Amino acid sequence: MKEPFLKPLAIVEQLHLHGFEAFFVGGSVRDLLLQREIGDIDIATSARPKEVIGLFPRTVDVGAKHGTIIVIYEGSMYEVTTFRSEENYNDFRRPDNVTFIHSLEEDLKRRDFTMNAIAMNHKGEIIDPFNGVEAINKRIIQTVGKPSERFSEDALRMLRAVRFVSQLDFSVVEETKTAIAKHSHLLDKISVERMTVELEKVMRGHNTTSAFKLLIETEMYKYLPGLLEKRERVEKLALYDWSNFKERPEYWTLLAYVIELKDIETFLRLWRLPNKIIRAVEININGLIKVLDSGWTNQLLYQLGLDRALQVQRVYAVLTSQDPKQLNETVRTLFSLLPIKSRDELVVRGKDLLYWFNKTPGPWVSKLIETIEDNIIKGNVVNDKAVIKEWLDHCNLK
Ligand code: ATP
Ligand code: MG
Repeated sequence: MKEPFLKPLAIVEQLHLHGFEAFFVGGSVRDLLLQREIGDIDIATSARPKEVIGLFPRTVDVGAKHGTIIVIYEGSMYEVTTFRSEENYNDFRRPDNVTFIHSLEEDLKRRDFTMNAIAMNHKGEIIDPFNGVEAINKRIIQTVGKPSERFSEDALRMLRAVRFVSQLDFSVVEETKTAIAKHSHLLDKISVERMTVELEKVMRGHNTTSAFKLLIETEMYKYLPGLLEKRERVEKLALYDWSNFKERPEYWTLLAYVIELKDIETFLRLWRLPNKIIRAVEININGLIKVLDSGWTNQLLYQLGLDRALQVQRVYAVLTSQDPKQLNETVRTLFSLLPIKSRDELVVRGKDLLYWFNKTPGPWVSKLIETIEDNIIKGNVVNDKAVIKEWLDHCNLK
């Protein structure tokens, strides 16, 4: 057994000690076999949620109804889920009720793709009833069982296939792809929040080109929020190199810029993004349009601040096929040359203006501060109290 499984091995062993079966399952086992960085480690067990809660001092009930309990162990969180089958699919979505079962194999059978239906026991031995290891070696995505049935049970799996194309650089086998094309309309039934999670993983993946092409080829894009009439725009998305982005708003900035410039907010609301991200994307796009139009100015750099300016620059680099590292260096240099980087650095305060002009407070104070700030940024006056006072007198700005 290798890191990072050594720590959660104690959870598996504790379950064994009390007579339960327990295995590592899902993405962590797949990623171990792929020698990829391992994310969350999930454990499947024959113990019922209540029994899991009873065996560990620190647990969080995140979905006992569905069998899932989080066990907190040595500062890390692990999802421990009771073996279950999901028979009662309703309306092409995940079932509301699940049946707890006793067999690992039945539990693996309900999983989406063969590469995700592999288990590993406490000795590091692989249990692979659906030939997931072979799929990993061939780098293919194939449903466990008949794809049409599996996508009718839970339509999100089709979008998960696309995100694995992007994340893992695998290809979807023909039968599974044909079934996606046939059932893509079922995505209509899926909650937007679940789709947003997968689309973000598509955008953050390594092979965005193949993933967006697959969205077109299967016509799945038509059933994603705000993309119905946007075939050509989605085709464009496939052409860009998304790999240099870092922050969440950058991905949505490129997406919104390419898909829907007219009403960015409505488009992003369709994806149910938090207000903070929507606002960030709007600011980014306004900045981006200015950079595309007339390049960087001191005012724009100052308004955006360094972090946001770097985000805008990375999207600009992608849109104009330029080297983002070099362009970001340019932004850093230009920013370092700004006379002031934020309002805190302004040497004049409201109280100075009140004293100088001997007037009562009012909106004129903040307006004048803005004028001074703007002129410092433009290089019309330096950030020095005496110089500013003289400049104000000279320009008769009171
Ligand atoms: P990641 O590395 O992005 O976390 P993952 O494969 O672990 O990928 P999760 O969403 O964390 O994906 O799901 C964990 C496991 O649960 C999957 O590997 C798969 O076995 C199963 N699973 C998740 N979603 C579904 C689904 N919609 N239908 C069937 N099985 C699913
Ligand atoms: Mg996972």
